[in-house]
Amino acid sequence: MTHTLDDLRALVRGRVLLPGDAGFDPARRPWNLAVEQHAAAVVEAADAADAAALVKYAGARGLSVFPQPSGHGATGDLAGAILLRTGQLGEVRVDPAARTARVGAGAPWGRVQEAAAEHGLTGLAGSSPAVTVTGYTLGGGLSWFGRAHGWAADSVVAFDVVDAEGGPARVTADSDPDLFWALRGGGGDFALVTAVEFRLYPAAALFGGRMLWPADRAPAVLAAFRSITAHAPGELTLWLDLLRFPGSAPLVAVDATYLGDEAGGRALGAPLDGIGGLISDSRGVMPPSALGSITAEPTDPGPGLSRGELLTGLDDTAAGILLSRPIDPLLSVQVRHLGGALARPSSGPHGALAEPYSLYLFGVPSTPPVAAAIRDRQRDLAGALAPYVSGRKPYTYLAPGESASSAFAPEVLDRLRALKRERDPRAVFRSNFPVLA
Ligand SMILES: Cc1cc2nc3c(=O)[nH]c(=O)nc-3n(C[C@H](O)[C@H](O)[C@H](O)COP(=O)(O)OP(=O)(O)OC[C@H]3O[C@@H](n4cnc5c(N)ncnc54)[C@H](O)[C@@H]3O)c2cc1C
Repeated sequence: MTHTLDDLRALVRGRVLLPGDAGFDPARRPWNLAVEQHAAAVVEAADAADAAALVKYAGARGLSVFPQPSGHGATGDLAGAILLRTGQLGEVRVDPAARTARVGAGAPWGRVQEAAAEHGLTGLAGSSPAVTVTGYTLGGGLSWFGRAHGWAADSVVAFDVVDAEGGPARVTADSDPDLFWALRGGGGDFALVTAVEFRLYPAAALFGGRMLWPADRAPAVLAAFRSITAHAPGELTLWLDLLRFPGSAPLVAVDATYLGDEAGGRALGAPLDGIGGLISDSRGVMPPSALGSITAEPTDPGPGLSRGELLTGLDDTAAGILLSRPIDPLLSVQVRHLGGALARPSSGPHGALAEPYSLYLFGVPSTPPVAAAIRDRQRDLAGALAPYVSGRKPYTYLAPGESASSAFAPEVLDRLRALKRERDPRAVFRSNFPVLA
């Protein structure tokens, strides 16, 4: 294999690393270090022409290309594919008058938010500035501002792609409605995206931050969280976190953003104010570029084991279950409030998100026994909450071992599969959660 793929070096301008090359091992590793992945080669595309040349090369030899800008969503299932790094496709261009951004396939949200914030605008970013816009958006993208503006993918106006024949195309709702539909949440199975253009939203006034208490305040915090989220306007988003950091006593947090002024944000959060024992409160007026500081998730690579679910409700019984079960050895149990614009009709593969809350169970698998214990706790918590677990999962919440079939209704999956067979019959593109698996 090494010998065969050697001719890739003459084909692309970017770096090509083959097994046995110095630097191959670090280059093939994903951001999530809990995932082991074995690539036939790693290609760091210098530009979109490199990416197109690679696709043609792979197609002619019956090989697959696995685009992976960062590896936040790594699953390890490369199946002998060529790993494509898109980091050098880093263009970030904001058009303040049109309120749109055009970003290269390797651009992380942090850079985009910095450029947008200069104009009082925001994209529909999630919790981490290190996740790429492209990978996140191809999976739908659940944003801090999804309650106000819907799925991130629904704000896309165009994709620049390389198709399975290696040809460039600009995909819009008019130019190619089927592919445009699939790319807005159906994952990375259908084309190689080289750039994305999407709408930005006004965020000149943005209030947000984290309130933190000792875990013994969790009953009061959860009660306030439920009461606020029962009537919250779309501009307000609250997430509740049960946290257990190594070496520290367990904690409970509420993370908030409000697309509005400070007085409005504080008034809506009033039920949280009377809860005693507050350890810290980072809430304040912030630029959209500071969103990542709210949850302060690690931006450097590290190991993680997650399980995501959608919840049909959070009544007294569900709240009691959340409060009564230990979260150890998990690091965090996060409940995000959804609803608002996310619950309205969407023309992407995921459709409307009827479930009002999501659940995200996260642990750091420092050793194999800890990994097993994390999985047990995830199973235990999701099992106890089974009457509230809808069974469907957002694509970007899927974890290794899960399948695209958990993200889509059966008729949607059928349509995605038909499109995959039509547009990529030789299976040149391989995504982290293939629709045909
Ligand atoms: C710390 C953290 C926080 C997160 N927060 C959120 C959140 O708030 N909301 C949310 O919805 N999700 C969130 N996620 C999930 C995240 O959106 C997904 O894991 C997403 O797939 C990451 O995209 P990436 O490009 O960074 O990762 P990668 O693993 O590099 O890419 C994921 C997949 O996207 C596809 N892909 C990427 N680029 C291309 C391309 N150019 N062409 C074709 N296919 C491509 C490929 O199939 C690839 O396997 C979070 C994940 C982490 C680890």
